[in-house]
Amino acid sequence: MTQIITKPNVVEAPEGISGEGYFLTSLDKAVGLARKNSLWPLPFATSCCGIEFMATMAATYDLARFGSERLSFSPRQSDLLMVMGTIAKKMTPVLREVYIQMAEPKWVIAVGACASSGGIFDTYSVLQGIDRIIPVDVYVPGCPPRPEQIISGILKIQDLVGNESLRRRNSEAYNELLGKYNIE
Ligand code: SF4
Repeated sequence: MTQIITKPNVVEAPEGISGEGYFLTSLDKAVGLARKNSLWPLPFATSCCGIEFMATMAATYDLARFGSERLSFSPRQSDLLMVMGTIAKKMTPVLREVYIQMAEPKWVIAVGACASSGGIFDTYSVLQGIDRIIPVDVYVPGCPPRPEQIISGILKIQDLVGNESLRRRNSEAYNELLGKYNIE
């Protein structure tokens, strides 16, 4: 039976020093705390995994508890690309364009077997994993993954976001990563 989680997610303070009337932490951690708890997902849903995402957004699982209830269908107003479903090769220019149009900092989750590896569709017309065209931060396994798994993926992204250095996006390593995908 599905366990219904009713308690809201309580945000903890980052590492720091506290005393009477003050709390000190680094800028990285303060910004990371805000970013990780206000992710705006762009659902790029093409097939069945998208239905699981709808369940993840609905009352029982309620993604709003993690600060991600504000979905965006505009790449410029989102920072988390969630790719859910089979990606036909004909769709790859569109997915790449959506990724490129998102402003930095941005993160990507491949939700389910199809987005992660092509899944059962080992065929000429299906992209065998979105990491062939864009960088991916977290992979969620399953065909389809249950909403709990999608939430687990979001929690992993939150960990990454909360601990990311503010300098990472300007780093040589990050530019090198984008360079591998021919993205400037
Ligand atoms: S991974 Fe399975 S459930 Fe998800 S889109 Fe592919 S076939 Fe459908």
